[in-house]
Amino acid sequence: MSGLKQYLKDTWQGIWTVLVGMKVTFKHLFVPAVTIQYPDVKINLPERARNRLYVNMDDCIGCDQCARACPVDCIEIETVKSIPGEDLGLTSNGKKKALWVTKFNIDIAKCCYCQLCVFPCPTECIYMTDVYEFSEYERENLVYKFATLTEEEAEEKKRNYEKYMAEKEAQKTAAAKTKTEQPKTGDNK
Ligand code: SF4
Ligand code: SF4
Repeated sequence: MSGLKQYLKDTWQGIWTVLVGMKVTFKHLFVPAVTIQYPDVKINLPERARNRLYVNMDDCIGCDQCARACPVDCIEIETVKSIPGEDLGLTSNGKKKALWVTKFNIDIAKCCYCQLCVFPCPTECIYMTDVYEFSEYERENLVYKFATLTEEEAEEKKRNYEKYMAEKEAQKTAAAKTKTEQPKTGDNK
């Protein structure tokens, strides 16, 4: 008889456990869900969320301030001075551009999202976007290249500048030579 009693008790406990579990489940049918069906559904990020960096090259003056502020050296910038006759135009806040930005790479794999590069930019052209899905299979694909000049164009700008400087130097040397060759006042006496 005690065996039957134990059997009925265990059966009741099993049923009771299921009922308690069902009660919890049933209650959650009427409260808002706390999870989302990512990636089909995405939550709205806070306004100041830090994600992928972007550089608007139309406004970049190549001043290098962002690169100097970066604590992990993941911004690499190379510039070439413009020569007389080249007009690079103005930025949207009216700054005159004087440098060709021949290289502007950000290695986002090294970036720690501190945003220190954003604050010193005089034209506010480097900023965090709301893009946070940018995983890659190859690490080198995480080096973002923002310079708008092609390699050939960058080389051409370098050559132009070197040529201009060489001509300037030659003119200077010629002028100095002419000056030294000119007879001094009183030499004919
Ligand atoms: S967010 Fe920080 S680590 Fe990333 S590029 Fe800018 S300064 Fe460097
Ligand atoms: S601080 Fe701004 S303007 Fe200067 S190089 Fe960086 S992105 Fe360009």
